[in-house]
Amino acid sequence: MTETEVVVIGGGATGVGVARDLALRGVDVTLLERGPGLNAGTSGRSHGVLHSGARYAESDPEGAADCLQENRILRDIAEGCVADSGGLFVRLGGDDADYFDRKLDACREIGMDPEPLSPAELRERVSGLSEAVEEGFAIPDGVVYPSRLVAATAANAREYGATIHTDAPVVEIDADGEADRRLTVRTGDGPTVSADVVVNAAGPWAGKVASLAGAELGIRPTRGVMVAVDYPDLGPVVNRCREPADGDIAVPHGEQAVLGTTSVTVDDPDEFERDDWEVQRTVEECAAMLPPLADTPVERTYWGLRPLYEPDELSREGRGISRDFAVVAHDSAPGLVSVVGGKLTTYRLMAEAVADHVCGTLGVDEPCRTAEEPLPGVGDPARLDELAREFGAVGPADADVVGE
Ligand SMILES: Cc1cc2nc3c(=O)[nH]c(=O)nc-3n(C[C@H](O)[C@H](O)[C@H](O)COP(=O)(O)OP(=O)(O)OC[C@H]3O[C@@H](n4cnc5c(N)ncnc54)[C@H](O)[C@@H]3O)c2cc1C
Repeated sequence: MTETEVVVIGGGATGVGVARDLALRGVDVTLLERGPGLNAGTSGRSHGVLHSGARYAESDPEGAADCLQENRILRDIAEGCVADSGGLFVRLGGDDADYFDRKLDACREIGMDPEPLSPAELRERVSGLSEAVEEGFAIPDGVVYPSRLVAATAANAREYGATIHTDAPVVEIDADGEADRRLTVRTGDGPTVSADVVVNAAGPWAGKVASLAGAELGIRPTRGVMVAVDYPDLGPVVNRCREPADGDIAVPHGEQAVLGTTSVTVDDPDEFERDDWEVQRTVEECAAMLPPLADTPVERTYWGLRPLYEPDELSREGRGISRDFAVVAHDSAPGLVSVVGGKLTTYRLMAEAVADHVCGTLGVDEPCRTAEEPLPGVGDPARLDELAREFGAVGPADADVVGE
């Protein structure tokens, strides 16, 4: 058995972000990921939008402001893991014009400077944009390459002393309910580690992981499909300006566009249906914005799982914070902390919130430094790709950009 201060379960963006933040504060951390490489879950299966916050500006202004802040930070510290494609919101004839105005106002409210554009200007920026587009505006969306981001974050954590194990599925967490006891975490054939604090960053599997410690976490995973097609000159991220619905976003990824998505609740994150109608609907809906898509063959599809969490469970489960993400300190398993929800774009901020909580528990009085310290390899795509390969972190979201 090895000993550490903190075990982090899950090697997606959130888990490596927590490991990095804690390591930079001088905390001894061991990360356990069940996959053969990092980035094996949702992080490697998103659209890869570096959100500006515009998508959520009217429905969740606080979450949107977090996105805007983190979008700016990642451009500073993670060049090469993110790309500045820009983004547009477009309204088609028949879409609600009041919603468009509310969205534009809400973007301004959170401190963004959206740029209204005429239909002709919009069509100049986006190849193949529909004649049905009546108005739109530009926002600072970008593209994030999760393979590089996760690998560079893990590399930085390792530089500061974190230990990272892949092929280490956690199968047992011994939390005996005594607040002053350490927790023992057992993996299949991998290491057994004892720690003062265990952070559950297992994304859609977080409910399963919490149950290993006898704690409850009501996660309802929902699946969404992403459809990649050849579309070399899309330009910016193109969002449809209407209430969230299936097939309302197209994201430029190298020579391809990634179209998304759907939202269907699943019972088991390890076994769920993948239906053709999701692919068809996503393509059809996106083709309303970008008509050439109707005749473009589908190159590849992949599904991701959102870990939906009901914030009112916080009062039932323990204490913590809840916003677009939740940090839950489980009363039934002292020392176990779960982090759920959020976005790839806000992974650093989520990690900071978790690390603040953990440092409070451990009595560590070091500030967070992750917003200032650049990630290793930034500005050097070849080095970032090497790191992605070294950590086995190349996932479907950017397989077309990050070399195998
Ligand atoms: C369809 C879809 C599209 C999205 N698009 C975007 C987007 O464009 N932009 C954006 O910012 N966000 C997007 N998101 C959200 C974003 O992808 C997620 O919020 C984020 O990636 C979650 O990261 P995570 O590390 O919390 O979870 P994950 O990446 O799922 O990581 C959890 C890890 O835990 C591991 N694990 C599970 N069980 C165990 C165990 N027992 N032992 C050890 N390890 C275990 C898994 O293998 C996995 O690697 C999207 C999400 C979905 C579903």
